[in-house]
Amino acid sequence: MAPVRLAICVAPPSRIAPRSARSATTASGGASSLQFGDQLVYFGTEPEWAIIARSADTAGLQLRERPGSLESERLHVVIQKGRLFQREHPSVSVLVDKGRYLLVDIDPVLARRLAKRKDPCFTVLALEAVDPTARGKDRVVFTSHDLDPDRATARAPHPMVSMHVDRISRTTFESDLAELVALPTRFSTSAHYQKACDIVERKLVSFGYATSRQMIGIGGSQSANVVARRAGTGPAPRREVLVTAHLDSINLEGSATSPAPGADDDGSGSAGVIEIARALRDVANVHDLVFIHFGGEEQGLFGSKHFVRSLSASQRSRVHSVVNMDMIGTLNTPVPTVLLEGRAISQSMLDSLADAASRYTGLALETSVNAANSDHVPFLDKGIPAVLTIEGADSSNDEIHTSRDTLDRINFALALEILRMNTAFVAEALTTNPTEV
Ligand SMILES: [Zn+2]
Repeated sequence: MAPVRLAICVAPPSRIAPRSARSATTASGGASSLQFGDQLVYFGTEPEWAIIARSADTAGLQLRERPGSLESERLHVVIQKGRLFQREHPSVSVLVDKGRYLLVDIDPVLARRLAKRKDPCFTVLALEAVDPTARGKDRVVFTSHDLDPDRATARAPHPMVSMHVDRISRTTFESDLAELVALPTRFSTSAHYQKACDIVERKLVSFGYATSRQMIGIGGSQSANVVARRAGTGPAPRREVLVTAHLDSINLEGSATSPAPGADDDGSGSAGVIEIARALRDVANVHDLVFIHFGGEEQGLFGSKHFVRSLSASQRSRVHSVVNMDMIGTLNTPVPTVLLEGRAISQSMLDSLADAASRYTGLALETSVNAANSDHVPFLDKGIPAVLTIEGADSSNDEIHTSRDTLDRINFALALEILRMNTAFVAEALTTNPTEV
């Protein structure tokens, strides 16, 4: 156990930049740092601390030092849905709170136990497991990108893409979301969940997609994925572009029959899948377009794990990208912000989504290569590029998994902007580079 001192400062602008553009700006002088968006955390042993303080001073950083010292082995990063880690462990001290991402001071024995448990609601990471792409001692939990507010450097919108993007409509999105939220619950193995499957399947059929159900077992009961396809016109083998969300909801304060409107989590993503399917219903797709509403997400990603397991190696290799939406309707940031969460394998997706955000939306952007706790993970685990697109991370929707995750709390302006970004990304991925799979 090594006692370390710890300080937090506002990240200098040079650090608020895409990873590729991130320079070696560091005040750590050989110690370690963790970036949480616009905050930087430095920690180091007593001999290292003088160097840290001096370099910080030279770099003009205002360090806010935490009094005393703590054992470095106690420092962990938590990735949580809503505030479900904090609700379950209120006594664990939170050093940095950015909503989805926390820096905590936790008993290492408890941390190891929680890491092993593979909880569906949160992930506890030792610092070595954070940012697998880091080469030095400076690790990034997530980055806040310093986008040009006037979008002066963004490329001009493409007319074909704009036509589809401009179809994204609050009227239809809100009405679809209201229909899903009106069910008493969408608990994965309930009869109400089957009704939700009927609702989304009926809509997807009406747009001309070919639908199917994939049954999934959850502890002796059954749930289902609803899959909708539209084959591309290009020569085989074609890419597959997937747009996904989880259709199920849960109430952790009650039982399987308690009210679980799940408006943000994940009615917003489910109605979002329908809205994108509507906007792309007549897209001139060279490649194959697939929409999936997963079941069993809240019980532990059952639907997405089952789907990925059902793919042969050649089917897996055809999946070009998976755009997952899980909670796109709560404003956690001063300006509408989307968080893009993937892994190194998703880098070209992250770049293309960021490009779509700047060309077709006014969204601010956060990115992370620390992926956890949603349906993008089973794809990433099999080497398939996937990105979770989710409301920004500075705060968090504390009402998910309760009866209070309701329609009146949804920020439609944010949700529609995320849908515009995703529609643009998918339209481009379906129609460009026809020979490249
Ligand atoms: Zn969710």
